[in-house]
Amino acid sequence: MNMKAMQKLSYGLFVCTARDGSKDNGCIINTVTQVASEPNTISIAVNKANFTCEMIDKTGVFNVSILSEAATFDTFKHFGFQSGRTVDKMADIEFSRAENGVAVIRNHCNGYLSGKVLYRLDLGSHLLFIAEVTDGDVFDDTPSATYAYYFANIKPKPAPAPKKKGWVCTICGYIYEGEELPADFVCPLCKHPASDFKPL
Ligand code: FE
Repeated sequence: MNMKAMQKLSYGLFVCTARDGSKDNGCIINTVTQVASEPNTISIAVNKANFTCEMIDKTGVFNVSILSEAATFDTFKHFGFQSGRTVDKMADIEFSRAENGVAVIRNHCNGYLSGKVLYRLDLGSHLLFIAEVTDGDVFDDTPSATYAYYFANIKPKPAPAPKKKGWVCTICGYIYEGEELPADFVCPLCKHPASDFKPL
């Protein structure tokens, strides 16, 4: 199969937040889709490597803040390339709380939706949550950021290729040094698989 066909799919980008007791956390996802209108229902798929995934699985409640074209690479680094297991991602971030008590990110986001999990499906790398939309609001009219917009305008252009053998993560820019990239390799920064790497 030509895996590049998968890259022709279009996606939005979101900060998915959860709260477990006094612990707030969030991660970047590109998988929020409305799947029914009556009742208003969305699906999200969250990588199991993300602490946020575990928190949603436990609490059954989450928010998705919808990233706009105002978002900077720092937002993606902050929520996407470090883990809430080791870092308090919410410590230096401005946020408010939705009715469900979970954090909502306003900065660089044009709106949010609150979800209450109805169904949960284990898909291997990700958990799929189907959720009732319990609340939501619009912050401004800046267009929503798509994955394509992220690659074209937000992700820094790659530096000139170094003269060493290795593989670069096309999602976040992480470089793996070595001739062969193990097939089961997972990017330590963004958790994307070996298929998202290309040779330097
Ligand atoms: Fe990566």
